[in-house]
Amino acid sequence: MRARKFKKLLIANRGEIALRIIRTARMTGLKTVAIYSEADARSTHVAAADDARLVGPAEASKSYLNIAAIIAAAKDSGADAIHPGYGFLSERAEFVRAVDAAGLIFVGPRAEVMAQLGDKISARKIATQASVPVVPGIETADLRAAREFGASAGYPILVKAAAGGGGRGMRVVESAANLGDALETAAHEAESAFGDGRLFIEKYLARPRHVEIQVLGDEHGTVAALGERDCSIQRRHQKLVEESPAPNFTQTTRDAMIDAATRMAQAAGYTNAGTVEFLLDGSAFYFLEVNARLQVEHPITEIRFGCDLVAEQLKIAMGERLGAISDPRGCALECRINAEDPGRGFSPATGAVIQLRTPGGPGVRFDTHLAQGVEVGAYYDGLLGKLICSGATREEVRRRMISALDELAIVGVTNTAGFLREVIASDAFARAELSTRFLEEHFPTGPHHDSERDTAALIAAALVAKDRLGSRDPQESDGARDSIEHSPWTEMPKFELWRTR
Ligand code: ADP
Repeated sequence: MRARKFKKLLIANRGEIALRIIRTARMTGLKTVAIYSEADARSTHVAAADDARLVGPAEASKSYLNIAAIIAAAKDSGADAIHPGYGFLSERAEFVRAVDAAGLIFVGPRAEVMAQLGDKISARKIATQASVPVVPGIETADLRAAREFGASAGYPILVKAAAGGGGRGMRVVESAANLGDALETAAHEAESAFGDGRLFIEKYLARPRHVEIQVLGDEHGTVAALGERDCSIQRRHQKLVEESPAPNFTQTTRDAMIDAATRMAQAAGYTNAGTVEFLLDGSAFYFLEVNARLQVEHPITEIRFGCDLVAEQLKIAMGERLGAISDPRGCALECRINAEDPGRGFSPATGAVIQLRTPGGPGVRFDTHLAQGVEVGAYYDGLLGKLICSGATREEVRRRMISALDELAIVGVTNTAGFLREVIASDAFARAELSTRFLEEHFPTGPHHDSERDTAALIAAALVAKDRLGSRDPQESDGARDSIEHSPWTEMPKFELWRTR
């Protein structure tokens, strides 16, 4: 058994998830070690940890993906366990092997389980063996077999990379005429992006929903499922809004999906926290993949089940048995706030946070690493924070989210809060007309109203116009007097402080 007690946890990540993990680790009495790149020396996760180690320059390949430097940082700081967070090295079996070889505990599944599930072709095979329905498809991209599949299943079909992830490595093929070219290009792309050109093919479902099941597996063979999350609101196959429970989802389908996810986790010998993803088409559902790590959207499950999934991960990694899981309650909704400009094709945005106003009140949680002065650069993904609202009913939570998005202001970094506010306030979302095509169908060109552009940007512009900011370094603008005199919230007319819609 790998599990054993540990005392000092290195968090091999950055941003909101590093901070999130540090909080739970501290609360459970563990010492924490942050790692950081040269670009992140002044980040909040570094300040929050007991100890911190520089692991390389800004480029992720040389820092947050640098296995040797991270293992050396763990050894040097006396850490005896590593939590990978999500993204970066979290699903790299070679990292788990390196952690094991160094005599450290990895907070996650075993290397061989991760390797099997990380390969989408072998994951499909495990699902089939466990009688879990998979999307109709073939586990080869041989041109002749692909032609036959296209002819029998009907177009469009989807060419996918066995090693794909993060919405990358997928190509929709509309007709037999394009098939040969699509397979060739997809194989090249997969080879250069993932170092693995193997492909497989699925039927491209027209308007599915993305519904996933949170699982926990302990080192003693027990697997528990913690309900579902609907993550259908996506842009380019990347999730933007997630909710639990899935609306318009019968208890029969829920029970069947939970049962399938549990079988899948058991068949794979899964341990620690993971997510089994499905596409839902009417009442039929199909296995998509297993994410062998903590998921970005895990807080909506925590809220409904009254648990701390990071604490569960740490307990499992220490060899403890899973405790009783309480029944879920109420509803929870999450919006991912990204550093992007929705008015300009969601192009990435950068900048320094000049002022931050975070929402609060009952049923509101904002997981973020932002603070005044924090720089948002172009090196890493642009997730600024996750706004999570909860309440008794979906409609109550929806209204709370609209209010919380109004309250949120991130001055200095253009972001998607205003656009998400439009999405949540739309009739289609209120009616829960969910599908992975939601944004294409209802927001084909992004936000509907220019006036919805981030109020925070307007306030910042007004302040700049008033020459209040000048060339002042936001880091230096501290002190009570300064913040009262120069806070945008006191300088703007009251009606500007809250978005009025
Ligand atoms: P990744 O690992 O890159 O995230 P997934 O296989 O998990 O890829 O799929 C991501 C998203 O792509 C899904 O949530 C869904 O929106 C879309 N997708 C994947 N497979 C299909 C399919 N066969 N038909 C329709 N949409 C699909």
